Amino acid sequence: MRTLSARSKDGKLFPVEVAIKPVMLENKLFFTTYIRDISERKRQAQEISSLAAFPGESPLPVLRINQPGVVIYANKASAALLEYWGCRRMQTVPIYWKRLVEQTLETGRATEVEVETSAGVFSLLLAPVANLAYVNVYGRDITAIRQAEEEARHRQNELIHVSRLSTMGEMATGIAHELNQPLSAIVNFANGCARRIRLGMGEKEELIRAMEQISLQAERAGEIIKRLRGMVTRQQPVREHTDLNTLVKDACALIAHDRQKLKIAMELQLSRQPVIARIDPVQIEQVILNLLRNALDALGEQRQKERRLLLETGMSVQGMAYIRVQDNGSGIVLEDMKHLFDPFFSTKKTGMGMGLSISKTIVAEHNGRIMADSLPGKGTVFTIVLPASSAIAESIAS
Ligand code: ADP
Repeated sequence: MRTLSARSKDGKLFPVEVAIKPVMLENKLFFTTYIRDISERKRQAQEISSLAAFPGESPLPVLRINQPGVVIYANKASAALLEYWGCRRMQTVPIYWKRLVEQTLETGRATEVEVETSAGVFSLLLAPVANLAYVNVYGRDITAIRQAEEEARHRQNELIHVSRLSTMGEMATGIAHELNQPLSAIVNFANGCARRIRLGMGEKEELIRAMEQISLQAERAGEIIKRLRGMVTRQQPVREHTDLNTLVKDACALIAHDRQKLKIAMELQLSRQPVIARIDPVQIEQVILNLLRNALDALGEQRQKERRLLLETGMSVQGMAYIRVQDNGSGIVLEDMKHLFDPFFSTKKTGMGMGLSISKTIVAEHNGRIMADSLPGKGTVFTIVLPASSAIAESIAS
């Protein structure tokens, strides 16, 4: 049997298989020639060999690892991954990966993992081929996606920071007033001491008490400045176990001047136990401040005698920490409720409309939720819900 080229009627060459068989007929030797067109068979064979080369040609990592964790196949694009594992073809992957292969085969479910190699970040899909006891590993280069996410996070942090700066700028008068109180007290005590000493009147004990007051007030001023610095400096987001009661009190101190000016009665119904959540304290205080400032704006439109602000903290039955800010101000009409958290939505003349949108982003980054409920003309209540660190809250409480 031979493979030859044949020419068709229209002049095209095509492969044929030729078989010649001798036959004896009446003592005479004859030959029977069988010619078969094998172009289709050839095409299929080529396709199979090209399919076999397919993973090798892939610009993305494709590997096969058997149950004992030996890399039995790795295409060229897997070089960075093998370098990351510190092994070569026909060698065993590190123990963690060996376990992952075993687990994938045991469960029969594909597993997805992410690795950062020298060539970039890869998402690896470990697909089990149970009957042959190996997993196929398909890599996907997600460096660009991760970079874009990082940039978006960075921009989001910048936005949160700029918004905080703008809030602080708007509150400058109130904050200056708060700072002025301990400073004025210091001046008064110091002048009093100087006068008594000059006149030779000061009892030693009395002067010491005055000095202690000066030091106490200076500490109070220092605290305010420390808090302010925390609010204005740009910092990487953190996660710290924080008592939400403390945050609420700190935020209330920052609006104290504006609240008193508007003659708003404030009630604090804070949980007796510390309400601990793992949060970025500066960012969550920013959210509380946004809610308080909105409440002050809404209450400014209410009759003076009836202006009330209620702040609550606690733990829900579902074990979530919550902060609630309730005012009996102007309230929000139904149509506006739909857009409340949209960027640039504002019903105020000079409003930016970014406060609630940024608050929502911050709370979502903490795996929490922020909700609003309102009765137009009667008031509004905002609730922030955050995952609580219950074990820590219990240990602090006991
Ligand atoms: P801004 O305060 O700059 O308008 P926000 O995003 O903080 O931006 O608020 C968006 C809008 O939501 C406000 O303009 C107001 O109409 C409404 N709003 C928010 N909080 C309250 C509240 N406590 N009472 C009434 N309306 C509110």
